[in-house]
Amino acid sequence: MMARNFNTIKRSLSREEKKQVVNSHNKYGLPLPDNHTYQSFMKADIQDEFIIMKCTKCNNEEEIQFDFVKAYLKHYPDQDYPEGICDKCGGKTIPLDVYLENNNK
Ligand SMILES: [Zn+2]
Repeated sequence: MMARNFNTIKRSLSREEKKQVVNSHNKYGLPLPDNHTYQSFMKADIQDEFIIMKCTKCNNEEEIQFDFVKAYLKHYPDQDYPEGICDKCGGKTIPLDVYLENNNK
């Protein structure tokens, strides 16, 4: 099956998100990307790609990392888009692109 295309958003990581990256790298004993030190990493403009997931129940939107989407689709080759669980209501979340497509039918 051909993987579908998603609209991605490229943006800078927030301070909180950078801290999470640092924590997970420390946790697994990995060096920071591009040989950054903690201080240079926190000061640098780190870009990442995201897609928007939308809840089919309460319409809540959340961003997930595009790298995660790629890993998901590799792990579940039968699926052509990721499905998640809404943080707010526990409903099903699907990519905004898929949501809009379904509503235009
Ligand atoms: Zn929801």
